Amino acid sequence: MSNAVGAAARRVGALRAQVVDPASSSRQTPQEAPSARVGLVDWFFGASGIGGKRASFTVAVLGAAGGIGQTLSAFIKANPKVAELRLYDVAPVVRGVAADVSHVNTRAKVSGYVGDDELEACLRGCDLVIIPAGVPRKPGMSRDDLFGVNAGIVRTLCEGVAKTCPNAIVNIISNPVNSTVPIAAEVFKKHGCYDARKLLGVTHLDVMRAKTFVAAAKGFDDPTLVDVPVIGGHAGTTILPLLSQTTPRCSFTPEEVSALTNRIQNGGTEVVEAKGGAGSATLSMAAAAAEFADACLRGLSGESGIWACAYVESKATRAPFFATKVLLGRNGVERVAGTGTLSSYEKRALESMLPELEASIKKGINFLHS
Ligand code: NAD
Repeated sequence: MSNAVGAAARRVGALRAQVVDPASSSRQTPQEAPSARVGLVDWFFGASGIGGKRASFTVAVLGAAGGIGQTLSAFIKANPKVAELRLYDVAPVVRGVAADVSHVNTRAKVSGYVGDDELEACLRGCDLVIIPAGVPRKPGMSRDDLFGVNAGIVRTLCEGVAKTCPNAIVNIISNPVNSTVPIAAEVFKKHGCYDARKLLGVTHLDVMRAKTFVAAAKGFDDPTLVDVPVIGGHAGTTILPLLSQTTPRCSFTPEEVSALTNRIQNGGTEVVEAKGGAGSATLSMAAAAAEFADACLRGLSGESGIWACAYVESKATRAPFFATKVLLGRNGVERVAGTGTLSSYEKRALESMLPELEASIKKGINFLHS
Protein backbone atom coordinates (compact mmCIF):
# COMPACT_ATOMS: atom_id res chain seq x y z
CA MET A 1 0.00 0.00 0.00
CA SER A 2 1.13 3.55 -0.69
CA ASN A 3 2.99 4.93 2.26
CA ALA A 4 4.07 8.40 1.26
CA VAL A 5 3.12 10.04 4.54
CA GLY A 6 4.69 7.26 6.58
CA ALA A 7 7.81 7.40 4.50
CA ALA A 8 7.97 11.13 5.14
CA ALA A 9 7.87 10.54 8.87
CA ARG A 10 10.69 7.99 8.65
CA ARG A 11 12.73 10.44 6.62
CA VAL A 12 12.55 13.14 9.24
CA GLY A 13 15.15 11.32 11.33
CA ALA A 14 17.44 10.92 8.35
CA LEU A 15 17.04 14.58 7.42
CA ARG A 16 17.84 15.75 10.91
CA ALA A 17 21.09 13.83 10.68
CA GLN A 18 21.89 15.73 7.49
CA VAL A 19 21.21 19.21 8.84
CA VAL A 20 24.43 21.16 8.71
CA ASP A 21 26.08 22.05 12.03
CA PRO A 22 25.91 25.89 12.11
CA ALA A 23 29.39 26.18 13.66
CA SER A 24 31.04 24.25 10.86
CA SER A 25 28.81 25.63 8.10
CA SER A 26 29.83 29.19 8.98
CA ARG A 27 33.34 28.34 7.82
CA GLN A 28 32.14 27.03 4.46
CA THR A 29 31.36 28.87 1.27
CA PRO A 30 27.91 28.09 -0.15
CA GLN A 31 29.59 25.96 -2.82
CA GLU A 32 31.44 23.89 -0.23
CA ALA A 33 28.52 23.43 2.12
CA PRO A 34 27.05 19.95 2.00
CA SER A 35 23.82 20.02 0.04
CA ALA A 36 21.59 18.63 2.77
CA ARG A 37 18.50 17.07 1.20
CA VAL A 38 15.96 19.38 2.75
CA GLY A 39 13.73 19.90 -0.30
CA LEU A 40 10.02 19.42 0.29
CA VAL A 41 9.89 16.79 -2.42
CA ASP A 42 12.62 14.80 -0.73
CA TRP A 43 11.09 15.28 2.67
CA PHE A 44 7.63 14.18 1.68
CA PHE A 45 7.88 11.80 -1.22
CA GLY A 46 11.53 10.74 -1.39
CA ALA A 47 14.20 11.96 -3.77
CA SER A 48 12.48 10.70 -6.88
CA GLY A 49 9.09 9.75 -5.57
CA ILE A 50 8.28 6.76 -3.43
CA GLY A 51 8.39 4.36 -6.32
CA GLY A 52 11.45 6.01 -7.75
CA LYS A 53 9.71 7.08 -10.96
CA ARG A 54 9.22 10.64 -12.13
CA ALA A 55 6.33 11.18 -14.45
CA SER A 56 4.36 14.05 -15.83
CA PHE A 57 0.78 13.93 -14.70
CA THR A 58 -1.82 16.67 -14.70
CA VAL A 59 -3.91 16.70 -11.53
CA ALA A 60 -6.97 18.82 -10.71
CA VAL A 61 -8.37 19.52 -7.25
CA LEU A 62 -12.03 20.61 -7.40
CA GLY A 63 -12.97 22.45 -4.21
CA ALA A 64 -9.36 23.58 -3.79
CA ALA A 65 -10.16 26.66 -1.69
CA GLY A 66 -11.65 24.58 1.14
CA GLY A 67 -10.24 23.15 4.32
CA ILE A 68 -9.23 19.88 2.66
CA GLY A 69 -8.57 21.40 -0.76
CA GLN A 70 -5.95 23.93 0.31
CA THR A 71 -3.80 21.53 2.32
CA LEU A 72 -4.26 18.77 -0.24
CA SER A 73 -3.11 21.14 -2.99
CA ALA A 74 0.09 21.90 -1.09
CA PHE A 75 0.74 18.18 -0.63
CA ILE A 76 0.08 17.44 -4.32
CA LYS A 77 2.42 20.27 -5.32
CA ALA A 78 5.15 18.35 -3.49
CA ASN A 79 4.59 15.19 -5.49
CA PRO A 80 7.32 14.81 -8.12
CA LYS A 81 5.02 12.83 -10.39
CA VAL A 82 2.91 15.94 -10.94
CA ALA A 83 3.81 18.25 -13.83
CA GLU A 84 0.69 20.40 -13.66
CA LEU A 85 -1.67 21.15 -10.79
CA ARG A 86 -5.01 22.83 -11.54
CA LEU A 87 -6.99 24.29 -8.63
CA TYR A 88 -10.72 24.92 -9.08
CA ASP A 89 -13.40 26.34 -6.79
CA VAL A 90 -16.52 28.49 -6.93
CA ALA A 91 -14.80 30.76 -4.38
CA PRO A 92 -12.56 33.34 -6.13
CA VAL A 93 -9.93 33.01 -3.40
CA VAL A 94 -8.80 29.87 -5.21
CA ARG A 95 -6.67 32.10 -7.45
CA GLY A 96 -4.86 33.24 -4.31
CA VAL A 97 -4.54 29.66 -3.13
CA ALA A 98 -2.94 28.82 -6.49
CA ALA A 99 -0.55 31.78 -6.18
CA ASP A 100 0.36 30.68 -2.66
CA VAL A 101 0.91 27.01 -3.54
CA SER A 102 2.85 27.95 -6.70
CA HIS A 103 5.68 29.35 -4.57
CA VAL A 104 6.54 25.89 -3.25
CA ASN A 105 9.81 25.03 -4.99
CA THR A 106 8.78 21.92 -6.87
CA ARG A 107 8.40 21.51 -10.59
CA ALA A 108 4.58 21.27 -10.86
CA LYS A 109 3.05 24.32 -12.56
CA VAL A 110 0.03 25.61 -10.67
CA SER A 111 -3.00 27.54 -11.96
CA GLY A 112 -6.31 28.61 -10.44
CA TYR A 113 -9.80 28.45 -12.00
CA VAL A 114 -13.01 30.04 -10.72
CA GLY A 115 -16.61 29.06 -11.41
CA ASP A 116 -18.53 27.18 -14.11
CA ASP A 117 -17.03 29.14 -17.01
CA GLU A 118 -13.53 27.94 -16.15
CA LEU A 119 -14.28 24.33 -15.23
CA GLU A 120 -13.57 23.02 -18.71
CA ALA A 121 -10.20 24.80 -18.95
CA CYS A 122 -9.29 23.36 -15.56
CA LEU A 123 -10.16 19.80 -16.54
CA ARG A 124 -8.75 19.69 -20.07
CA GLY A 125 -6.10 16.94 -20.31
CA CYS A 126 -6.28 15.90 -16.65
CA ASP A 127 -5.04 12.44 -15.66
CA LEU A 128 -6.38 12.56 -12.10
CA VAL A 129 -9.29 14.63 -10.74
CA ILE A 130 -9.72 14.85 -6.97
CA ILE A 131 -13.07 16.15 -5.67
CA PRO A 132 -13.31 17.52 -2.12
CA ALA A 133 -15.93 20.16 -3.11
CA GLY A 134 -18.99 20.55 -0.93
CA VAL A 135 -20.13 21.31 2.58
CA PRO A 136 -18.66 19.49 5.61
CA ARG A 137 -20.50 18.27 8.72
CA LYS A 138 -21.28 20.29 11.81
CA PRO A 139 -21.74 18.66 15.25
CA GLY A 140 -24.86 16.50 15.35
CA MET A 141 -24.96 15.96 11.58
CA SER A 142 -24.56 12.65 9.78
CA ARG A 143 -22.75 12.45 6.45
CA ASP A 144 -26.11 11.69 4.84
CA ASP A 145 -27.36 15.11 6.03
CA LEU A 146 -24.97 16.61 3.45
CA PHE A 147 -26.66 14.81 0.56
CA GLY A 148 -29.04 17.69 -0.28
CA VAL A 149 -26.18 20.09 -1.10
CA ASN A 150 -23.28 17.83 -2.10
CA ALA A 151 -25.17 15.52 -4.49
CA GLY A 152 -25.77 18.40 -6.91
CA ILE A 153 -22.18 19.66 -6.59
CA VAL A 154 -20.73 16.22 -7.39
CA ARG A 155 -23.15 15.80 -10.31
CA THR A 156 -22.13 19.15 -11.85
CA LEU A 157 -18.40 18.53 -11.42
CA CYS A 158 -18.63 14.99 -12.82
CA GLU A 159 -20.54 16.32 -15.83
CA GLY A 160 -17.53 18.54 -16.42
CA VAL A 161 -15.22 15.53 -16.16
CA ALA A 162 -17.42 13.51 -18.56
CA LYS A 163 -17.36 16.29 -21.17
CA THR A 164 -13.72 17.30 -20.83
CA CYS A 165 -11.49 14.49 -19.52
CA PRO A 166 -13.58 11.29 -19.63
CA ASN A 167 -10.51 9.09 -19.30
CA ALA A 168 -9.26 10.65 -16.07
CA ILE A 169 -9.11 8.76 -12.79
CA VAL A 170 -11.60 10.37 -10.39
CA ASN A 171 -11.13 10.37 -6.58
CA ILE A 172 -14.33 11.35 -4.76
CA ILE A 173 -13.92 12.81 -1.26
CA SER A 174 -17.19 14.79 -0.97
CA ASN A 175 -19.62 13.21 1.49
CA PRO A 176 -21.73 11.17 1.71
CA VAL A 177 -19.18 9.07 -0.22
CA ASN A 178 -21.54 6.05 -0.01
CA SER A 179 -23.93 8.00 -2.29
CA THR A 180 -21.71 10.47 -4.17
CA VAL A 181 -19.70 7.68 -5.85
CA PRO A 182 -22.89 6.07 -7.28
CA ILE A 183 -23.98 9.56 -8.38
CA ALA A 184 -20.70 10.01 -10.26
CA ALA A 185 -21.11 6.56 -11.84
CA GLU A 186 -24.60 7.47 -13.08
CA VAL A 187 -23.35 10.76 -14.55
CA PHE A 188 -20.59 8.94 -16.43
CA LYS A 189 -23.05 6.27 -17.63
CA LYS A 190 -25.38 9.00 -18.89
CA HIS A 191 -22.49 10.45 -20.91
CA GLY A 192 -21.40 7.02 -22.17
CA CYS A 193 -17.97 7.20 -20.52
CA TYR A 194 -18.34 5.12 -17.36
CA ASP A 195 -15.29 3.01 -16.62
CA ALA A 196 -15.59 1.39 -13.19
CA ARG A 197 -11.81 1.12 -12.98
CA LYS A 198 -11.48 4.90 -12.93
CA LEU A 199 -13.96 5.90 -10.24
CA LEU A 200 -12.77 5.59 -6.64
CA GLY A 201 -14.32 6.82 -3.40
CA VAL A 202 -11.60 7.90 -1.00
CA THR A 203 -11.85 5.90 2.25
CA HIS A 204 -8.14 6.06 2.98
CA LEU A 205 -8.60 8.25 6.06
CA ASP A 206 -10.41 5.33 7.72
CA VAL A 207 -7.33 3.20 7.02
CA MET A 208 -5.02 5.88 8.44
CA ARG A 209 -7.13 6.08 11.58
CA ALA A 210 -7.14 2.30 11.93
CA LYS A 211 -3.34 2.18 11.66
CA THR A 212 -2.95 5.01 14.18
CA PHE A 213 -5.40 3.72 16.78
CA VAL A 214 -4.26 0.07 16.52
CA ALA A 215 -0.59 1.09 16.80
CA ALA A 216 -1.39 3.09 19.94
CA ALA A 217 -3.43 0.26 21.48
CA LYS A 218 -0.83 -2.41 20.77
CA GLY A 219 2.28 -0.37 21.50
CA PHE A 220 3.63 -0.37 17.93
CA ASP A 221 6.08 2.48 17.61
CA ASP A 222 5.49 3.14 13.90
CA PRO A 223 1.85 3.17 12.67
CA THR A 224 3.00 3.15 9.04
CA LEU A 225 4.13 -0.45 9.50
CA VAL A 226 0.68 -1.54 10.68
CA ASP A 227 -1.82 -2.77 8.09
CA VAL A 228 -5.55 -2.93 8.82
CA PRO A 229 -7.91 -3.33 5.86
CA VAL A 230 -11.05 -1.20 6.27
CA ILE A 231 -14.00 -2.38 4.21
CA GLY A 232 -17.62 -1.42 3.52
CA GLY A 233 -18.36 2.26 3.05
CA HIS A 234 -17.54 5.61 4.59
CA ALA A 235 -20.23 6.39 7.18
CA GLY A 236 -20.82 5.12 10.72
CA THR A 237 -21.24 1.37 10.94
CA THR A 238 -20.62 0.93 7.21
CA ILE A 239 -16.94 1.54 8.08
CA LEU A 240 -15.65 -1.89 9.08
CA PRO A 241 -12.01 -2.30 10.12
CA LEU A 242 -10.89 -5.92 9.78
CA LEU A 243 -8.90 -6.16 12.98
CA SER A 244 -8.65 -9.94 12.55
CA GLN A 245 -6.51 -9.27 9.44
CA THR A 246 -4.15 -6.82 11.15
CA THR A 247 -0.46 -7.19 10.40
CA PRO A 248 1.87 -7.52 12.23
CA ARG A 249 -0.35 -10.32 13.55
CA CYS A 250 -1.77 -9.47 16.96
CA SER A 251 -4.73 -10.54 19.02
CA PHE A 252 -7.49 -8.37 20.42
CA THR A 253 -9.85 -9.05 23.30
CA PRO A 254 -13.57 -8.70 22.49
CA GLU A 255 -13.54 -5.41 24.46
CA GLU A 256 -10.61 -4.13 22.36
CA VAL A 257 -12.35 -5.13 19.11
CA SER A 258 -15.47 -3.29 20.15
CA ALA A 259 -13.66 -0.15 21.38
CA LEU A 260 -11.28 0.10 18.40
CA THR A 261 -14.01 -0.57 15.83
CA ASN A 262 -16.18 2.07 17.45
CA ARG A 263 -13.37 4.64 17.52
CA ILE A 264 -12.40 4.03 13.87
CA GLN A 265 -16.05 4.29 12.81
CA ASN A 266 -16.48 7.54 14.74
CA GLY A 267 -13.09 9.13 14.07
CA GLY A 268 -14.70 11.71 11.81
CA THR A 269 -17.28 12.62 14.44
CA GLU A 270 -14.50 12.90 17.04
CA VAL A 271 -12.90 15.63 14.90
CA VAL A 272 -16.20 17.36 14.06
CA GLU A 273 -17.00 17.62 17.77
CA ALA A 274 -13.48 18.70 18.73
CA LYS A 275 -13.67 21.52 16.16
CA GLY A 276 -16.99 22.58 17.67
CA GLY A 277 -18.77 23.61 14.47
CA ALA A 278 -15.73 25.02 12.66
CA GLY A 279 -15.47 22.11 10.22
CA SER A 280 -14.67 18.43 9.92
CA ALA A 281 -11.42 16.54 9.35
CA THR A 282 -9.35 18.59 6.91
CA LEU A 283 -5.65 18.12 7.72
CA SER A 284 -5.68 14.35 8.23
CA MET A 285 -8.04 14.05 5.25
CA ALA A 286 -5.68 16.08 3.07
CA ALA A 287 -2.80 13.81 4.09
CA ALA A 288 -4.92 10.73 3.37
CA ALA A 289 -6.07 12.08 -0.01
CA ALA A 290 -2.49 13.00 -0.95
CA GLU A 291 -1.24 9.55 -0.05
CA PHE A 292 -4.10 7.94 -1.96
CA ALA A 293 -3.55 10.19 -5.00
CA ASP A 294 0.11 9.20 -4.94
CA ALA A 295 -0.93 5.54 -5.00
CA CYS A 296 -3.14 6.22 -8.04
CA LEU A 297 -0.28 8.04 -9.82
CA ARG A 298 2.13 5.24 -9.02
CA GLY A 299 -0.34 2.81 -10.57
CA LEU A 300 -0.70 5.06 -13.64
CA SER A 301 3.11 5.19 -13.90
CA GLY A 302 3.16 1.42 -14.26
CA GLU A 303 4.43 0.49 -10.83
CA SER A 304 3.31 -2.94 -9.73
CA GLY A 305 1.87 -4.13 -6.44
CA ILE A 306 0.13 -0.88 -5.42
CA TRP A 307 -2.73 -1.93 -3.15
CA ALA A 308 -4.97 0.50 -1.27
CA CYS A 309 -8.48 0.39 0.18
CA ALA A 310 -11.08 2.30 -1.87
CA TYR A 311 -14.86 2.41 -2.35
CA VAL A 312 -15.45 1.13 -5.89
CA GLU A 313 -17.89 -0.85 -8.01
CA SER A 314 -17.51 -4.31 -6.55
CA LYS A 315 -18.76 -7.87 -6.49
CA ALA A 316 -17.24 -8.55 -3.06
CA THR A 317 -20.72 -8.46 -1.48
CA ARG A 318 -24.29 -7.92 -2.68
CA ALA A 319 -23.79 -4.11 -2.46
CA PRO A 320 -22.87 -2.81 -5.93
CA PHE A 321 -20.29 -0.41 -4.46
CA PHE A 322 -18.07 -1.52 -1.61
CA ALA A 323 -14.67 -0.66 -0.16
CA THR A 324 -11.98 -3.32 -0.04
CA LYS A 325 -8.34 -3.39 -1.01
CA VAL A 326 -7.90 -2.72 -4.72
CA LEU A 327 -4.87 -3.14 -6.96
CA LEU A 328 -4.00 0.10 -8.77
CA GLY A 329 -2.42 0.08 -12.20
CA ARG A 330 -2.16 1.85 -15.54
CA ASN A 331 -5.95 1.93 -15.97
CA GLY A 332 -6.93 2.63 -12.39
CA VAL A 333 -8.42 -0.32 -10.49
CA GLU A 334 -6.92 -3.49 -11.98
CA ARG A 335 -8.30 -5.88 -9.37
CA VAL A 336 -10.83 -5.69 -6.53
CA ALA A 337 -9.96 -7.93 -3.59
CA GLY A 338 -12.59 -9.84 -1.66
CA THR A 339 -13.19 -9.41 2.03
CA GLY A 340 -10.89 -12.28 3.03
CA THR A 341 -11.68 -14.50 6.01
CA LEU A 342 -13.77 -12.62 8.55
CA SER A 343 -14.12 -13.18 12.29
CA SER A 344 -17.65 -13.90 13.53
CA TYR A 345 -17.82 -10.31 14.87
CA GLU A 346 -16.88 -8.96 11.44
CA LYS A 347 -19.36 -11.29 9.67
CA ARG A 348 -22.18 -9.97 11.84
CA ALA A 349 -21.06 -6.36 11.38
CA LEU A 350 -20.92 -6.83 7.61
CA GLU A 351 -24.41 -8.35 7.44
CA SER A 352 -25.91 -5.59 9.56
CA MET A 353 -24.29 -2.72 7.60
CA LEU A 354 -25.33 -3.91 4.13
CA PRO A 355 -28.95 -2.63 4.20
CA GLU A 356 -27.77 0.91 5.06
CA LEU A 357 -25.05 0.81 2.43
CA GLU A 358 -27.45 -0.49 -0.22
CA ALA A 359 -29.96 2.24 0.66
CA SER A 360 -27.29 4.96 0.33
CA ILE A 361 -26.25 3.58 -3.05
CA LYS A 362 -29.87 3.48 -4.23
CA LYS A 363 -30.36 7.05 -3.03
CA GLY A 364 -27.38 8.18 -5.15
CA ILE A 365 -28.57 6.33 -8.23
CA ASN A 366 -32.14 7.61 -7.85
CA PHE A 367 -30.86 11.19 -7.58
CA LEU A 368 -29.84 11.05 -11.23
CA HIS A 369 -33.15 9.60 -12.34
CA SER A 370 -35.57 11.71 -10.30
P1 NAD B 1 -14.93 23.26 3.09
O1 NAD B 1 -16.26 23.90 3.24
O2 NAD B 1 -13.82 23.77 3.90
O3 NAD B 1 -14.49 23.32 1.57
C1 NAD B 1 -15.33 22.97 0.51
C2 NAD B 1 -14.95 23.77 -0.69
O4 NAD B 1 -15.80 23.36 -1.77
C3 NAD B 1 -15.15 25.29 -0.52
O5 NAD B 1 -13.96 25.98 -0.89
C4 NAD B 1 -16.29 25.61 -1.45
O6 NAD B 1 -16.21 26.91 -2.03
C5 NAD B 1 -16.11 24.53 -2.51
N1 NAD B 1 -17.28 24.30 -3.35
C6 NAD B 1 -18.59 24.35 -3.01
N2 NAD B 1 -19.35 24.13 -4.11
C7 NAD B 1 -18.50 23.94 -5.14
C8 NAD B 1 -18.68 23.68 -6.51
N3 NAD B 1 -19.90 23.56 -7.07
N4 NAD B 1 -17.57 23.56 -7.27
C9 NAD B 1 -16.33 23.68 -6.73
N5 NAD B 1 -16.11 23.93 -5.43
C10 NAD B 1 -17.17 24.06 -4.65
O7 NAD B 1 -15.14 21.69 3.34
P2 NAD B 1 -14.01 20.58 3.64
O8 NAD B 1 -13.80 20.49 5.09
O9 NAD B 1 -12.86 20.82 2.74
O10 NAD B 1 -14.81 19.24 3.21
C11 NAD B 1 -15.15 19.01 1.87
C12 NAD B 1 -15.94 17.72 1.73
O11 NAD B 1 -15.12 16.59 2.09
C13 NAD B 1 -17.17 17.63 2.63
O12 NAD B 1 -18.23 17.07 1.90
C14 NAD B 1 -16.73 16.68 3.73
O13 NAD B 1 -17.82 16.02 4.32
C15 NAD B 1 -15.86 15.73 2.95
N6 NAD B 1 -14.95 14.92 3.75
C16 NAD B 1 -14.70 13.64 3.33
C17 NAD B 1 -13.86 12.80 4.03
C18 NAD B 1 -13.60 11.41 3.54
O14 NAD B 1 -13.00 10.62 4.28
N7 NAD B 1 -13.95 11.05 2.31
C19 NAD B 1 -13.25 13.27 5.21
C20 NAD B 1 -13.49 14.58 5.61
C21 NAD B 1 -14.35 15.40 4.88
